[in-house]
Amino acid sequence: MSDLNAQPVWEQRWHPLRGEWVLFTSHRGGRPWIGETHRPSAKEVPVYDPECALCPGNQRLKGKNPEYQGVYGFTNDLPCFSPEAPEVDGGDDLYAIRAARGTAEVVCYHPDHSKTMADLSVSQVSDVVAHWRSRYAELGSRPGIDHVLIFENKGELVGTSNPHPHCQIYAGNMIYGHTAAEVRMARQWHEKTGALLGQEIVRREEQSVRVVCRNDDFIACVPWFARYAYEVLILPRAPASSLLDLNESRVANLAAILREVTIRYDNLWEMPFPYVMAIHQAPTDGGDYPYYPFHFEFHPPLRKPDTQKYLAGPEIGGGSMTNESNPDAKAAELRAVSSKLYRQNSSE
Ligand SMILES: [Zn+2]
Repeated sequence: MSDLNAQPVWEQRWHPLRGEWVLFTSHRGGRPWIGETHRPSAKEVPVYDPECALCPGNQRLKGKNPEYQGVYGFTNDLPCFSPEAPEVDGGDDLYAIRAARGTAEVVCYHPDHSKTMADLSVSQVSDVVAHWRSRYAELGSRPGIDHVLIFENKGELVGTSNPHPHCQIYAGNMIYGHTAAEVRMARQWHEKTGALLGQEIVRREEQSVRVVCRNDDFIACVPWFARYAYEVLILPRAPASSLLDLNESRVANLAAILREVTIRYDNLWEMPFPYVMAIHQAPTDGGDYPYYPFHFEFHPPLRKPDTQKYLAGPEIGGGSMTNESNPDAKAAELRAVSSKLYRQNSSE
């Protein structure tokens, strides 16, 4: 195997979770850019916004939020899956059709409109993780719910105009594509080697220079096969296929590393760092997935403080990702910043 720490130039790396090639062109990362730039506005976010659909006591499209104190979850007012989806005829072999059955929920991390995950305490993030775990268990146990996808879109660059700290849960009769690919890849690896794909990735990343931070139960790294410049995976150091495999101390360590990753992101350029975060957990379709590699993925759209990674010809047109950076160097940048949030004076 080639030197894993070398600058990847004109190189393709195999993405072992998705089963696809990622093209690395880190020599092109500094090319001149004359298009639109992005600097988040420095406007103050209020602790309460009377117009926000997620703030305590506010009216929503359907119903009204209680004066909640901690984590608050509710059914999305405009869910993309519904138990009331009308029956359809199934189509034919080519144009197949089925009802989109299930539900969607919103989870507010905290009543304070101005906070983000990075501003919360470890115990507050633990409460969020505990909520995710119980929703995964409850929704996943419902008949016809094949997959529970929990994700957070953070920042206007990923389409979220409301800064209130929250995430969403989609639970329906469809296994999302990346999880379907991970099931396939992890099963193949298990059949070929008898070992767990997730644990093999942890073993390799743990020994590399790409670890951003770690604790007894988890590591956070910019993986060797990263698709985005500042992509971070949080991987469990012992086997787990979902949040249900975590005991209380592993939940606390997961909360600690989630918080640290989001703090390091914000500290990188001293601004709220946009990302799409997804929790990849085993499907809930009744199958047995002991080999499924449970983990968290962060996909940030920015390559530089003011430069967005645009998905264009190769990505949208061609269907494969180009990464213009070196994961080793990006991990070093995230490791170099403080683990204390720049905008928080009080120490915890
Ligand atoms: Zn709000």
